[in-house]
Amino acid sequence: MSKKVVVIGAGFAGLSTASFLARDGYQVTLLEKNSIPGGRARKFEAEGFTFDMGPSWYWMPDVFDKYFAEFGKKVSDYYELTRLDPAYSIFFGKDEVMNIPAGKKALYDLFEQHEPGSSKNLDKFLKEAAYKYEVGINEFVYKPGRSIMEFADTRVLKSLFRLQMFSSMSSHVRKLFKNPRLIELLEFPVLFLGATPEKTPAMYSLMNHADLVLGTWYPKGGMHKIIEGMVSLAEELGVDIRLNQEVKHIFVPNGSAKKVITATDEFEAEVIVAGGDYHHMEQQLLEPRCRMYTESYWDKRVMAPSSLLFYLGVNKKLNNLLHHNLFFDEDFKQHAVDIYEKPIWPEKPLFYACCTTKTDPSGAPEGCENLFLLIPLAPNLKEEDGIREKYYNIVMDRLEDLTGQSIRDSVVYKRSYAHSDFEQDYHAYKGNAYGLANTLTQTALLKPSLKSKKVKNLYFTGQLTTPGPGVPPSLISGQVVAGEVKKEFAI
Ligand SMILES: Cc1cc2nc3c(=O)[nH]c(=O)nc-3n(C[C@H](O)[C@H](O)[C@H](O)COP(=O)(O)OP(=O)(O)OC[C@H]3O[C@@H](n4cnc5c(N)ncnc54)[C@H](O)[C@@H]3O)c2cc1C
Repeated sequence: MSKKVVVIGAGFAGLSTASFLARDGYQVTLLEKNSIPGGRARKFEAEGFTFDMGPSWYWMPDVFDKYFAEFGKKVSDYYELTRLDPAYSIFFGKDEVMNIPAGKKALYDLFEQHEPGSSKNLDKFLKEAAYKYEVGINEFVYKPGRSIMEFADTRVLKSLFRLQMFSSMSSHVRKLFKNPRLIELLEFPVLFLGATPEKTPAMYSLMNHADLVLGTWYPKGGMHKIIEGMVSLAEELGVDIRLNQEVKHIFVPNGSAKKVITATDEFEAEVIVAGGDYHHMEQQLLEPRCRMYTESYWDKRVMAPSSLLFYLGVNKKLNNLLHHNLFFDEDFKQHAVDIYEKPIWPEKPLFYACCTTKTDPSGAPEGCENLFLLIPLAPNLKEEDGIREKYYNIVMDRLEDLTGQSIRDSVVYKRSYAHSDFEQDYHAYKGNAYGLANTLTQTALLKPSLKSKKVKNLYFTGQLTTPGPGVPPSLISGQVVAGEVKKEFAI
């Protein structure tokens, strides 16, 4: 007989869990506090502009292919992908811009130009990265991280050293490359994982395989198209998606959860999967006797960064920008210290600018550009009055100077978003944007567990549990947790 499951949160992880369980015969209700699904990947429209609110880099296309294939579907049933070439640009200074090409030959040439002879090392580096991707993304991340025995087969044990779990990304890159620009290019992708290259295991050079080999893609219409595709799929499978339903309490009478209570309704459940920010799900929705972790446990976790974001509508065409642009014209190390070691508002922040209208005019009225600026920041920073404007001006001064044009006077729409918005919209712990950092001491079994040890039928999914932050890991997290539910609450 079918079992009733309630999934909390319609982000990537919640939608993924709900779809896998509905496919396998569970009766699934998905409760979302906001008025549209997508979580951090929501979109909004204003004055003719359509903004993706969070993720903008479509990496690891194979993970999305695999996801839809699980349901007998293809990505192209839901959205159209284009590979970007150049993939992105890095501004190191006014006359020093590096465009990262999509093709192998052009990439090797770029390395040779910056460091003669380095293409041989790039080849070695990328072969290792491909192996790590193969084992890491096809095997490790699908492990629920509930027992050390999951890692006890010989292929995995043997691969631990080859995967370089115990050396850092920073030393790995520096052994092979000397040119500081190439080092920054190779170290930047691990910033997505929420920690410095010094603190990130070298296994994560798998991200360089994702970046430089698998490439940067774009779903026509914006990243929200992925969410729209996942929502249609979930509905086709029979998931009952309820928006504007903020869960206030998970009712656990005697060791098992019985129902989920929102401001207006109650939903009975035989299994519950909590897909909102783990800290909020645990510390706010459960009584203390049902929590696995304490506030002091959470306080000691290394959170991935937060961000200050600006969504801008510009009423003219901009020069010298690609779709994705990284501004590394200030000291990379210092900004990392300001985020990870001594959390402060950075004096000279690095930033990222995304101009989707360079690829897809649908994001803005004719002749206009859609511009999204992101400044990574430490979580838990206090916002003083006027601080957002101060950073807007810091970043705009540099953007205008480095791209050689005025921009501010053509901004016709502007919205900012930072810590307090993440907290208000998603109950994000310390205002984090990207969940929990993927440091060595927060990997696999060492992450907050995806199954409660106190409440028999309660599971967790999303970017604060296994396998970690990012869109592809969140999709996988949903699949993995659905697998655990099926093992323990079979129908
Ligand atoms: C600015 C930004 C840029 C990013 N860029 C990239 C990128 O380029 N590429 C990439 O791969 N990743 C990127 N990420 C990370 C990626 O977006 C996230 O890892 C992913 O979206 C997390 O999905 P999730 O389902 O775990 O969480 P969420 O998206 O946060 O979903 C959780 C859902 O739970 C809901 N919820 C919370 N509490 C309750 C409650 N009490 N009741 C009901 N519902 C509740 C929330 O409203 C939310 O919808 C970015 C993130 C941000 C913020």
